[in-house]
Amino acid sequence: MISIRDLHKYFGSLHVLKGINLDVEKGEVLSVIGASGSGKSTLLYCINGLEPIQGGSVTVDGTDVHAKGTDINKLRQKLGMVFQQWNSFPHLTAQQNVELALKIVKKLPRDQAREIAFRQLNHVGLGDKLDVYPSALSGGQQQRLAIARALAMEPTYMLFDEATSALDPELVGEVLDTMRLLAEEGMTMICVTHEMGFARDVSDRVAFFHKGVMEEIGPPAQIFGDAQSEQTRKFLANVR
Ligand code: ADP
Ligand code: MG
Repeated sequence: MISIRDLHKYFGSLHVLKGINLDVEKGEVLSVIGASGSGKSTLLYCINGLEPIQGGSVTVDGTDVHAKGTDINKLRQKLGMVFQQWNSFPHLTAQQNVELALKIVKKLPRDQAREIAFRQLNHVGLGDKLDVYPSALSGGQQQRLAIARALAMEPTYMLFDEATSALDPELVGEVLDTMRLLAEEGMTMICVTHEMGFARDVSDRVAFFHKGVMEEIGPPAQIFGDAQSEQTRKFLANVR
């Protein structure tokens, strides 16, 4: 599981995460919501070691992410990440994009990499796009390619940072459907999202971030129906 204890993050003098405590259990789907600038992306980057921290700890399956001796590249293989906009390699087909890390990072032989890429592209509904270049894919298909690429590494956890925010509205649904499928399959997921419908329907818990503080966390019924924090209620009144 992922355990975060009293996590503090600064950018210079800017205190961006102010003592976050959070456990995410295997199989759990956590949605993270909150205004722009509240620290949601930074939280994900601290979890997968893309950002150093200034206090507290993050452990993934018992390994301290930020400890000196930690093999961060190995640990990161457990943590698939999908960003708002993912730029796939334009000179490689969808299948070759998925194969790449399997060959380079996992050092799998070509046949095995091909087989996994084929399986994961089918998994995200791109089974008919194997030989297509990214420029010929829609934004929604590109995001699903990004998900397939992450899944190919067989992560234990998937971190989504506003995976649908850059998409035209009509393309959001297909990506959310793919994320929902992963949730149903039991993937452990942390989803930073502005999609309140997804947060309400798919998550086990929802965390509301406000100015670097985890202001409230609870099941969707609490957050959306019976929020304990005035800030949570204010935020939700404005986004709906
Ligand atoms: P969110 O994802 O909730 O919109 P972020 O985690 O991206 O928020 O940012 C939190 C705060 O940290 C913001 O004030 C942002 O401007 C600041 N910030 C984020 N990344 C950096 C960085 N690399 N350098 C300096 N400040 C940053
Ligand atoms: Mg962000």
